[in-house]
Amino acid sequence: MSGCSGNCSSCSSNCKGKEPESLIEPTGEYNNIKHVIGVVSGKGGVGKSMVTSMLAIELALKGFKVGILDADITGPSIPKTFGINTRAMQNEIGILPAVTKTGIKIMSINLMLPDHESPVIWRGPVIAGAVKQFWHDVVWGELDYLLIDCPPGTGDVPLTVFQSIPLDGAVIVTSPQDLVSMIVKKAYNMAKMMDIPVLGIVENMSYVVCPDCGKSFNIFGGGSETVAEELGVPLLGKMPIDINLTKMVDNGEFERFETSYLKDAVNAIIK
Ligand code: ADP
Repeated sequence: MSGCSGNCSSCSSNCKGKEPESLIEPTGEYNNIKHVIGVVSGKGGVGKSMVTSMLAIELALKGFKVGILDADITGPSIPKTFGINTRAMQNEIGILPAVTKTGIKIMSINLMLPDHESPVIWRGPVIAGAVKQFWHDVVWGELDYLLIDCPPGTGDVPLTVFQSIPLDGAVIVTSPQDLVSMIVKKAYNMAKMMDIPVLGIVENMSYVVCPDCGKSFNIFGGGSETVAEELGVPLLGKMPIDINLTKMVDNGEFERFETSYLKDAVNAIIK
């Protein structure tokens, strides 16, 4: 109908037009999740899961109840980061998340697979269905923050996450190569199109510090300042390639890592 705004509540016409339907799915009835934050990236391998895990640890250290929904179904790395090798359990009310040493609740497809090396060879809609199930069927209980480690890119799976889970904000993770900077704009535009506020950008693998002379080297060049400025969002932190991070992940001690790399990102989430 011409001139239709799509808002039937302010319209006198009796056309029985349909208001646009929200695709947002409710979470389970036993869950009370106050804030949902997506951690996104335009491509894989930039450290999105690493940043998600560090944000969760810092939020938990501040006393918040935190969960991580690992929606990166084809590249799930959250359980490994926290040294969790158990399988998910369930009871009559739903699927129970694993709980890390510092009390962070996590759910990942890796907790469902026969072993952690099994590949997930599923088509997009099945993967998206698994993410929705994690949102709805997992007994998250009371959470101040649920961080979603989103699938990388801008394809149908990240789209489903954006459409079906009510995200309060998104943190974009990038690495400083030019190409990735272009890709980061795609992630930004996708969030914008879905009306999800972008809290800012975290630049990972920004530099490396020489263990002998202490000098910093920007091996990939940098460039996130320019991108952040162009997009009008804050640059929330720069994280170096830190060999201690990988060592602690390998030793299952990641939660003991003390860092201030992501202080501003945490503040942007809790403000
Ligand atoms: P993504 O989730 O974007 O695919 P990951 O978080 O899984 O990327 O990171 C890819 C690999 O790089 C992992 O092995 C991770 O431990 C490592 N990594 C990520 N960020 C850093 C960093 N700042 N310093 C050292 N290793 C890192």
